[in-house]
Amino acid sequence: MQIPRFPKAVFASLVGIVSMTATVDASCTVTRNGSGGILLKGTVLTPEGAINDGQVVIGGQGLIECVGRNCFDQEQAVRVFDCSDSAISPGFINTHEHIEFAHIAPLEDIGERVDHRHDWRQGLRGFTRRETWRYRIVERYIQWGELRHLLSGTTSIIGGSMAPGLTRNLDFVDGLEAGLTAPTAYADTFPLDDASGILREGDCNYGPSAVTRQEVSALNSFVAHVAEGIDGAAENEFRCLSDRSFDLSAENERSGRSTDIVLPNVSFVHALALTNRDLDLVASHGAKIVWSPRSNISLYGKTLDITSVLNKGIVVALGTDWLPSGSASLQREIACAAQVAGEHLKKPLPAKSLWKMVTINAAKVAGMDDNIGELSPGKVADIVVFSGAAPDPFAMATNSDQSTVELILRGGKILLADDGIGNLSLSDCERVDIGGRSKRLCLSEELDIPFSRFASEMKKRGIYPAVLPPLPASEPTCIPTR
Ligand SMILES: [Zn+2]
Repeated sequence: MQIPRFPKAVFASLVGIVSMTATVDASCTVTRNGSGGILLKGTVLTPEGAINDGQVVIGGQGLIECVGRNCFDQEQAVRVFDCSDSAISPGFINTHEHIEFAHIAPLEDIGERVDHRHDWRQGLRGFTRRETWRYRIVERYIQWGELRHLLSGTTSIIGGSMAPGLTRNLDFVDGLEAGLTAPTAYADTFPLDDASGILREGDCNYGPSAVTRQEVSALNSFVAHVAEGIDGAAENEFRCLSDRSFDLSAENERSGRSTDIVLPNVSFVHALALTNRDLDLVASHGAKIVWSPRSNISLYGKTLDITSVLNKGIVVALGTDWLPSGSASLQREIACAAQVAGEHLKKPLPAKSLWKMVTINAAKVAGMDDNIGELSPGKVADIVVFSGAAPDPFAMATNSDQSTVELILRGGKILLADDGIGNLSLSDCERVDIGGRSKRLCLSEELDIPFSRFASEMKKRGIYPAVLPPLPASEPTCIPTR
């Protein structure tokens, strides 16, 4: 669905021009303020490895022109950032959100771990119904949710709903923002048309509008909830979508039969009930998995054995799922992923593997790896610079929180800059305190209200904050119980 745009209000007159005097130390500094493009110097994170003393050159059109050690010596004309002690990363891509629920606070942990999503959605089989809110879409709340993700280094979201500006919305043509064009990703919460709470085992008698292979194969990318649960009914969903001979008897013209949508343009969200054999099928057909460990663990008490999934060669991306049972940011989803792999599975994931799950792998899930998810020439300059002191530069990105985000660019446009970076000669920016650090938010074209006023409005209504401490309030558990 598409959401109407806000009327644009006069933002600049409310905020004015903020003087740009450095007030805190940052490891990045601006050394020249040309207008012909941007040169970032520092440790550049790429799928092939980190480039120490690297450079990223961004042209006037917001595209990356060069990445390497010696690609630019004409510094006079451009804005130069010396980020020698920082990590320069592609902006994070969140492949699974329900952003229209950004106003629903994390659910209280009542100790129940259910077997299938319909158990908590509908209160089936003796479980407590948790989805008690009235479903409504308020663009203000979506904007606020996108801000929470943006401030956490996320520049793109597949979120099922959207607000214009702020993060790119990869599942909406109107939400792609400058530099990206259709086709979009297609997010589907109920590919089997089972929203009413249909649980099946042994057949595929789900709703009348279940997806077909033909529909799915025509899409750029199809990102669908499948097998969100740990029981036979959850596994049955995958069988109905992967094995054409499993159920050959039709209920009517459209429904009742199994199909096979395990295709290279398909990503299975959660996929919690998949067996070893199912995962082999996903791997051999080049399909992908979107992993949301915190939401899996807080709802079902367990998540995928991610090491064996990765060992099969399956591309895995991370998604926060939503605020009620998932992570408030990809930074916190990474923290959960690292925790469950290291402490529960006893198979720690390298920082680079985690980083790929929110960059290049996520771009592949969206079907947009030609344009985002990697710093290389021709891609859009969606870039986040992280400060930190980790010996592994990838860990500077994966062990980050909002306070360590020094710079955010979307399509080469500066949306956030740590105050310590120095004089940027930017107008219409607003200072915001994030974890004791002063950041400049430059969102005059993104928001029709100053951030500070927006924040106090949301606080008055009791809406979850966009500025997060290192450990966000009421965060759902990441400790598996089964
Ligand atoms: Zn979901």
